Amino acid sequence: MNNNTYLKINLKNLVSNFLFLKSKISDTTKFLGVVKAFGYGSDSIEIAKCLEKQNIDYLAVAYTSEAIQLRENAIKIPILVLHPQIGDFNDIFQYDLEPNIYSFKILNEFINNKSMNQNQPIHLKFNTGLNRIGFKYSDINILCDIIKSNNINVKYIFSHLGASEDLSEIPFTEGQINLFEKISENIEKKLNRRIDKHLLNTSGILNFSDYQFNMVRSGIGLYGFGNDYNYRSDLRPVVSLISTISQIHEVKKGESVGYNRGFLAEKNTKVGIIPIGHADGISRALGNRKGKLIVNNIPCDIIGNVCMDMLMIDINSVDCNEGDEVIIFDEEKQTAEDFSKYSDTISYEILTSISQRIRRTYLSD
Ligand SMILES: *Cc1c(COP(=O)(O)O)cnc(C)c1O
Repeated sequence: MNNNTYLKINLKNLVSNFLFLKSKISDTTKFLGVVKAFGYGSDSIEIAKCLEKQNIDYLAVAYTSEAIQLRENAIKIPILVLHPQIGDFNDIFQYDLEPNIYSFKILNEFINNKSMNQNQPIHLKFNTGLNRIGFKYSDINILCDIIKSNNINVKYIFSHLGASEDLSEIPFTEGQINLFEKISENIEKKLNRRIDKHLLNTSGILNFSDYQFNMVRSGIGLYGFGNDYNYRSDLRPVVSLISTISQIHEVKKGESVGYNRGFLAEKNTKVGIIPIGHADGISRALGNRKGKLIVNNIPCDIIGNVCMDMLMIDINSVDCNEGDEVIIFDEEKQTAEDFSKYSDTISYEILTSISQRIRRTYLSD
């Protein structure tokens, strides 16, 4: 392992983000923390442990294997599996997980599994416009017949917003909300009971808190990013990606640097070699002066092509030495969101791309 590159995980910021997001909803609304994709790259186990200690109500992951990992690390609170696959249900029952049931095919798998216990809770997912996974409005009659005849414990009805961060799409989001309410009413009438519901993701909590229903689901907000620059003081980035300068070269005018001679020196140039590369989640799209890293407070262009295990920066204008710290992103000077702009992506992708070979360090109380 490369000890000079590490991801610093600030659990104090995680707690502060959790409390801030909780302050946006009522005391009686439950809070689900999304820890899929290795906790958005941070470390799902440490994040889950920390949130469990804060008495969060629920966790969610995308795939069953992610939930098993949490259970094997002694996480006890309810876990929603957002995208169960055919063949998962033995594990779902054995590890006491709550599946999202989103299609008739998955519902059949669930019902036909012999190890299902009678009270096994499910979350029933409806597509209200994202057009990803979920049942549709016209499925309700058949669906409710199956639920009734099999006595299935529908613990929640839920859906997912497609553009809750985008204030120019308010009519679209309101359409999703209206459809969700109509679906819920219809199901409650057919099943002749009230059922709890959840709809909002992080930007839903920030922009549409009137529709918090009985639970909200937050991922990116817990890790410190809102949909709006205005939340920059309320939400604090949890992870910082730090490296060091391995070596410094003086490259003479006319010489080149890196594979395919990606950088050609037009003048004598001081170049720093940094031990992190595209295998670590630093996209090749950031080469050739697209991305910047920060050395002693000065932004330095990435030059040439990003290699698998290292990259090169132009340090001509910085007073620095081998061994000096390099910030890829941090809590303040250049956040993961700032960094995401260089390659025309979003903080989510930057965070979840950080490879598992990067050492994680933790800051907590
Ligand atoms: C990933 C995910 C979330 C979390 O969304 P954020 O924007 O990170 O808060 C919530 N709900 C579902 C269904 C998801 O897939």
